[in-house]
Amino acid sequence: MYKKLFIPGPTHVRDEILLAQAAPMIGHRAKEYQDLQAEVTPKLQKLLYTNQRVYLYTSSSTGVMEGSVRQASTKRVLNTACGAFSRRWYDMTVRNGIPCDLLEVPLGQAITPELVDEALSKADYDAITVVMNETATGIMNPVKEIAALVRQKYPDVLLLVDAVSCMAGVKIEFDAWGLDVCLAGVQKCFALPPGLTVCAVSDRARERALKVPNRGYYFAYDQMDKRYDKHQTPATPAISLIQALNKQMDDILAEGLENRWARHLEMAEIVRAWARKYFAIYGDERYLSHTVTNVSNTRNISVSQLNDELGKRGAMISNGYGDLKDVCFRIAHMGDLQVSDIKWLLEQINDILGL
Ligand SMILES: *Cc1c(COP(=O)(O)O)cnc(C)c1O
Repeated sequence: MYKKLFIPGPTHVRDEILLAQAAPMIGHRAKEYQDLQAEVTPKLQKLLYTNQRVYLYTSSSTGVMEGSVRQASTKRVLNTACGAFSRRWYDMTVRNGIPCDLLEVPLGQAITPELVDEALSKADYDAITVVMNETATGIMNPVKEIAALVRQKYPDVLLLVDAVSCMAGVKIEFDAWGLDVCLAGVQKCFALPPGLTVCAVSDRARERALKVPNRGYYFAYDQMDKRYDKHQTPATPAISLIQALNKQMDDILAEGLENRWARHLEMAEIVRAWARKYFAIYGDERYLSHTVTNVSNTRNISVSQLNDELGKRGAMISNGYGDLKDVCFRIAHMGDLQVSDIKWLLEQINDILGL
């Protein structure tokens, strides 16, 4: 049976979007493709409140996380971690032989500007990585406040933001906040099938990258820039996904960005209220995600049995991530899911568990 996905990626994709991928194929050096990229890019710039470059990478987010940290630093990187995805960026930095240090907080806690300030003051850093929405724990880091601190006190430090599970679900003002890299795969809040990553890059970050000799090739901004003004990518892109993204961006802008942010928060508040009533919310409640709620499994239910039953009714939620596998479960409320979907899901869970 078809299951509506309430997992934190891939998430539910509307039929119109699935069908938009079935448009006839076009050549990636043909005018039809140039027109497509020229159309979709300004829509993405609007989404991110930026006048700077937005690249389309045919890759999952992990690839772009690696590509961006590889071209961010000629000195030392501070990686921040508050869960499995942010920790991944540290592992990538280490594996690429880039000098780095880890600022890590216990699961369920947030990276704060105070912690970042203390850590950045200890060595000569020129880049920092932050995951905005830590999908593994349901914590949303205060990136705007972190950016304000970094821009004010550490002007040479590039701020790289993984917004994979919140871009297109929460407001991210790339230029006003002073971010340098902000990336997200499209299978989460964009509600598209996986395979494409949207990445905004500041002019400052593009200049820095030119000074990094071992910056790689596929993700290198200077390679992307060779074709950027022609509205092309250096390698063959996932054309069908970009066609679907173009359609989805029209729908996102037609919904209205402020409406979209408000809908995500409303869905989050409904799930949080439910979680508080019947279970508990995991982590520091001052920093809860708007797009995924991590519920403490205080009733010790079998999440896999619950999911089996939900499956019969056409829905799927997610267990806890990594160390939290059995102690939590996660309900995603992102992308094109509506308040009515969330209410329906919670009714099904209550019915199955007899709550
Ligand atoms: C899903 C996710 C990733 C990894 O995305 P892939 O598309 O699997 O590469 C990275 N960071 C965060 C915060 C995520 O939620």
